[in-house]
Amino acid sequence: MHLTKFMLLCGVPSVLAKCKCTPTDDCWPSTSEWESLNSTIQGQLIANEPLAKPCYAGFGNNPTQCQEISNLYEDASFREASPIGYMYPVLDTCVPINGSIAGNPVCDLGSASVYSINASGAADVAAGVKFAKDNNVRLVVKNTGHDIRARQGYGSLSIWTKHIRPELQYQEPYSPSDSSCQSTWNGSAIVVGAGYIWDEVYAFAAKHGHIAVGGGDRTVGAVGGYLQGGGHGPASHYFGLAADQVLEFQVVLATGDVVTANACQNVDLFSALRGGGGGTFGIVLAATLKVYPTQPVLKHSLSVTALSTDISALLNVSVTILSKYPTLSDAGFSGYGQLERILGVNPAYSHTFGKLLTSDGSSSNSSSEIDKAINLVNEEILDFLSSLNGTGFSVTSTFHKYDTFQDFFNSGSHNSNASNNPSPAMVSRFFDKNSLSNNQQNLTAMLEAIFPQSASQVQAIATLLELCLVGGGEVLNAQPHTAIHPGWRTTYVLAETFDVPPTDRGLQGVRQVKDYATSKKLNAMKDATPILGTYLNEADPNDPDWKEAFYGNQYSWLESVKQKYDPEGVFWCYRCVGYEGWEEITGPTLYGPLCQTT
Ligand SMILES: Cc1cc2nc3c(=O)[nH]c(=O)nc-3n(C[C@H](O)[C@H](O)[C@H](O)COP(=O)(O)OP(=O)(O)OC[C@H]3O[C@@H](n4cnc5c(N)ncnc54)[C@H](O)[C@@H]3O)c2cc1C
Repeated sequence: MHLTKFMLLCGVPSVLAKCKCTPTDDCWPSTSEWESLNSTIQGQLIANEPLAKPCYAGFGNNPTQCQEISNLYEDASFREASPIGYMYPVLDTCVPINGSIAGNPVCDLGSASVYSINASGAADVAAGVKFAKDNNVRLVVKNTGHDIRARQGYGSLSIWTKHIRPELQYQEPYSPSDSSCQSTWNGSAIVVGAGYIWDEVYAFAAKHGHIAVGGGDRTVGAVGGYLQGGGHGPASHYFGLAADQVLEFQVVLATGDVVTANACQNVDLFSALRGGGGGTFGIVLAATLKVYPTQPVLKHSLSVTALSTDISALLNVSVTILSKYPTLSDAGFSGYGQLERILGVNPAYSHTFGKLLTSDGSSSNSSSEIDKAINLVNEEILDFLSSLNGTGFSVTSTFHKYDTFQDFFNSGSHNSNASNNPSPAMVSRFFDKNSLSNNQQNLTAMLEAIFPQSASQVQAIATLLELCLVGGGEVLNAQPHTAIHPGWRTTYVLAETFDVPPTDRGLQGVRQVKDYATSKKLNAMKDATPILGTYLNEADPNDPDWKEAFYGNQYSWLESVKQKYDPEGVFWCYRCVGYEGWEEITGPTLYGPLCQTT
C-alpha cells in the first residue's frame, strides 16, 4: 500500500499525506479567503448545493421544487445549466426522491465540486487557477458536464466555462489573430468561445451556408472536452476529426497567463490540445475552426427488429451488416448504427447514415449520383435483408434527400438524455477496415460477449452497442500538429457499449456491471481488434491499458508538453496526461480526496 494512502486511512490529515485540501481538512481555505476570491471575480463564486437537495428532509426541503427537478432530471440542458450538473456523474449522491421515503437517505455533493467560478472571461479563469494553486485546492474544469471519463472532482474548485460566450465570429476567409502566422487555409472559419454548444455553432455556420465539424449530439460543448479530445460526428468522415479543424486556441495556462496556440506560437501546446485531451494542459477560452460550404445529403434509415425477445439471430444479421460498413464508408456514407437490447423488449438493429452529394440534386448528374448510392446500399445490405423480412424480423428502409447538411442534421433528434442513477458502464474500441470486413468469426464472438444469453451474466437491465461509422474518408488522412490517437487514422468504426445497471442493487450492482463490462466486453472488443486503441473521450475509465488505449504512442511526448506547461500539476484529471503520481483515495465509495502517491 502506498504510504500516503496508509497515512490517510489511519486518519492523518490530508496536509501531511500530501493531499489536496478538502473541506474537512484544517488546510481548507477559510470563509474569508473564499470571500476574497469572490470579490476578485465580481461575485461569481458559487457555493454548490446538490441538484436535488429540495427533495431531502432538512433545510431547503421543498416538495414543489423537488417535483420540478424530478421532471427535468434527465434533460441534458437542465444538467448543463448547473455548475455541477453532469450527464454521467461518477455516482449520483443526491437523486430526486420522494421526501417521505423511509430511512432518511442522505444527499451530498459526492464527486461534484464544492465551489464553482462562473467564469465569463480570462481574468476569472486566471483568478481561479491562482487561488487553487496558492491554497492547494483541487481544480477541475466544467463546461457542459458531458464528461464520461470521471473527470469530476471531489472537494474541488471548478472553473465553469459555460458563460464564456463572446459573440460568435464568422470569417470569410480565415483571418489569423496573429498576422505574422501565415496559414494555408483559404476557406472560412468561425471563432467559438468556450461556452457554446454544437447546436448553436451548427446553426451559426448554417446561417452562413457552411458546415461545422462537431458532435452527433447537439448539447455537447463545442470547444471543451470534445474538441480537445479529438471529436467525431456526422461530418468527420468528410472533413476529418473536429480537432483537425482547429486553426488556433486561446488558452489560460497554469501560470495564469493567456496565450495563443497555433501553428506558429506555442506549437507544442497547439498540437497537444488538438486531440491530447481536455482538462490537463490549460483552460481553453476560445478556438478558431475551419468550416466548409454546405452540400445536399442523401439519408438512409434502416431498422431490423427481431419478432421475439431472443437476440441470437439478430446478432448474426448485425455482423453481416457491420461487415459492409467499410464498403458503405468508402462510397461516402457515414453515421450511426445501434444494436439495442432492453430486457423484456424485442431487440433491434437500426442505423441512420448520410452521404454528402457533390451537386444540388437538380441535374441528371446528381440523380445518377443518388441512384448509384441507393443501388450500392441495395446490393450490400438490402437485398440480403429483404429475404429476412417477416421471417423472424421486421425490416424497414427509407431514403430521403436534404438540400443542406443542416436540414439533414435537423431531421434527427440528436438529443441524448442525461443518465438517471446509476450511470451506465461504457467501453469502446476502434475498428479498422480489416477488422470489420474480414473478421466475421471474431465479430460474432464479440457480439455474443456484449449481449450474453445466460441469465447469470445479464447483469445490465439494458445494453446498447453504438456503431459510430464516423471514421474512414478524411479521418484517415494524418495531419500535422496533432495529438490524435494514431489508431484514428485507420479507423472506420468506433464501437461503444453502454450497460445500464439495475436500480435496486446499490453500489454493488453498479460495480458488478462496470467490472463485467471491463473484464468481459472490453476484452472481447480487444480480441476482435488487437492492435487498435479507442477514443479517449468515450472510453472505459477503468481500462487497465488506458495509457496505450487512449493515447497510443503519443503519451510520452504529451507528458513532456504537460511538464513544460504545468510542471506543478495544477490541472489534474483521471487518466488524463499527467495522471500518474496522484490518486483519488476512494475507500468504500467511488470518489475521495486527491493525494500524491510518490
Ligand atoms: C450524450 C453524449 C453525447 C456525446 N456525443 C459525442 C459525439 O457525437 N462525438 C464525440 O466526439 N464525443 C461525444 N461525446 C463525448 C464528449 O465529447 C466528451 O464527453 C467531452 O469530454 C464533453 O466535453 P464537454 O466540454 O461538453 O463536457 P464537460 O464534461 O464539461 O468537459 C469534459 C472535460 O473536458 C475538460 N474541459 C472542458 N472544457 C474545457 C476547457 N474550456 N478547457 C480545458 N478543458 C476543458 C474538463 O477536463 C472536463 O472534465 C458525447 C458525450 C455524451 C454524454
